[in-house]
Amino acid sequence: MDSAKPGLVLTVPVTQLGPGARAWRGLKRMALVSGIGVVLVAVPLLHVCGAVVALIAGPIAGVFAWRARAVLGACEIACPKCSQPVLVPDQLPGWPARVHCAKCGAMVELQLGEAAPS
Ligand SMILES: [Zn+2]
Repeated sequence: MDSAKPGLVLTVPVTQLGPGARAWRGLKRMALVSGIGVVLVAVPLLHVCGAVVALIAGPIAGVFAWRARAVLGACEIACPKCSQPVLVPDQLPGWPARVHCAKCGAMVELQLGEAAPS
């Protein structure tokens, strides 16, 4: 998002993740990536890469999945630069959630808004 422009207010479907859901999500991602690494250990010429994927990339992927505090549902928003529709994929992690406009290539960053003062 261009910092010179004011932010837009949008309504998108969001599921807030609690501590348990975040931990479970991180563990699932780590098991998936580490599992792929374990499978690669059995492949000749890739066994060293498999060990690196299993022992290093798996935990890193798990931490990145754990960091997401919310997941967004699929929706369509307008690009703030070219006003073309931008598709937000289902299960996009946030905050901030970032998508790129397919038309102009601008990055659209979605932040959690604060409640308006009453
Ligand atoms: Zn655009």
